[in-house]
Amino acid sequence: MYDVVIIGAGVTGSAVARELSRYSDLNVCVLEKGEDVCSGTSKANSAIIHAGFDAAEGSLMAKLNVEGNEMMDDLARDLDIPFKRNGSLVVCIHKEELGGLKDLYDRGVANGVKDLKILSKEEVLEMEPNLSDNVEGALYAPTGGIICPFILNIAMAENANVNGVDFFFNTEVQTLKQDEKKVWHIRTNNGEYKTKYVVNAAGVYADKFHNMVSSKKIHITPRRGDYCLLDHEMGDFVSHTIFPQPTKLGKGVLVSPTVHGNLIVGPTAIDIEDKEATATTAAGIGDLMAKAGMHVKNLPIGRKVITSFAGLRAHEDNHEFIIDWVDEAPGFFDCAGIESPGLTSSPAIGRMVGGMFKEKLGLKEKSDWIATRKGIVETKNLSIEERNELIKKNPAYGTIVCRCESITEGEILDAIHRPLGARSLDGVKRRVRAGMGRCQAGFCSPRTMEILNRELGIPMEEITKSGGKSNIVLERTKGGED
Ligand SMILES: Cc1cc2nc3c(=O)[nH]c(=O)nc-3n(C[C@H](O)[C@H](O)[C@H](O)COP(=O)(O)OP(=O)(O)OC[C@H]3O[C@@H](n4cnc5c(N)ncnc54)[C@H](O)[C@@H]3O)c2cc1C
Repeated sequence: MYDVVIIGAGVTGSAVARELSRYSDLNVCVLEKGEDVCSGTSKANSAIIHAGFDAAEGSLMAKLNVEGNEMMDDLARDLDIPFKRNGSLVVCIHKEELGGLKDLYDRGVANGVKDLKILSKEEVLEMEPNLSDNVEGALYAPTGGIICPFILNIAMAENANVNGVDFFFNTEVQTLKQDEKKVWHIRTNNGEYKTKYVVNAAGVYADKFHNMVSSKKIHITPRRGDYCLLDHEMGDFVSHTIFPQPTKLGKGVLVSPTVHGNLIVGPTAIDIEDKEATATTAAGIGDLMAKAGMHVKNLPIGRKVITSFAGLRAHEDNHEFIIDWVDEAPGFFDCAGIESPGLTSSPAIGRMVGGMFKEKLGLKEKSDWIATRKGIVETKNLSIEERNELIKKNPAYGTIVCRCESITEGEILDAIHRPLGARSLDGVKRRVRAGMGRCQAGFCSPRTMEILNRELGIPMEEITKSGGKSNIVLERTKGGED
């Protein structure tokens, strides 16, 4: 029996798992229906570390946003996560909306955001020459940043795993109930798990599990956001994250460099019912291009787009994070309604939940807790001398597998063999970016499949893009053999 079972290996579940792994007297596991960590919303978002001026003053969302933002430098250093404080600009293109910037400024100051500044038209155009000529001013937040959302999620999960947390993938929680001894019985497609405490970190499905155990129902709407990702060539089109003024539906369509040197444009905000509907739509992409074009000029859409994707925000009706014990269900803990800024807030959510468990259960910290993690070496960032040194030790670092992103076989081997290693093409892609480039895996997929086949003994026909039925090849032609 486990002490704590966490449902969901997204950025929330992984942050909570890492914090709970600090304690010596807790036996923790994570159940994830996907085939890997970072299978849900955490893999499809803007990857912005928000400064914290958006959320309502006094809300938990505002508090955790600002705390999470402040924690990010130390976390990125400790877990070797690509992160950059590039600063953000909320841009105003109508004179009559300048008052809105002041409101955001005041809210940001009330929320504890440091160093906010309202810039004049001239100041902002000097910082960002590709902004529209119609710009009237901007709110500048130097604490805004960009991160690799995959590695943030994966690094926290890996570190939790190294510190003793078990992860079970392809394990979908179906029902749960508590017996008279207060033990939770969690039924999954892979058998039953017993535990004293449950943490519900199931993203857009968190309402389903909350509502199984509580009469105070909550409701989560999947709010879809479509994106376009542009080629590295466009990575310096802007250097800050450019937001329009926020609306009731969110922060609006942004244009931002990514931490890996691409340009991201999006997201839209469309309320839907289907919690699995992550396909992009032509209407959505058209909408986001039109909106982005209002704030920047000459955005070279079209040829420069290398992929599009969509993510689902877990929008709770009251637009607030629900992070608490559930009164009527002793031992059941909710992390629900974790919509944007959930990525930014995740370290603070983990810390808050860890603190609440510590207080309730009187937990003691391990003396041998491992706080750091070494990421996968990025050979393309090494000098020729460093590369040669590495290749001498392991010739696999001398073979390029992904041409677009210059990813070597050595990096892919590390992605597969490290804790919670990759088992699919997307698993490799999220860890080392093989397949993330201009050709979108056209060239490197067969080579990565061969490596997965050789290293893990997975037959070629069973290698998947992202688990489930996403097999790449179905059968051998002409009865061919290995
Ligand atoms: C369009 C968009 C843009 C965003 N931009 C930003 C941003 O720039 N900055 C920011 O801070 N935040 C942003 N966010 C929000 C952020 O991405 C989310 O708050 C965060 O990723 C939520 O993480 P999570 O772990 O709660 O959910 P998820 O990542 O969805 O994880 C939940 C996990 O639970 C698993 N699960 C569900 N049901 C079951 C079950 N029955 N059994 C087992 N496992 C289950 C899922 O497979 C999933 O892996 C954005 C979100 C979207 C959609």
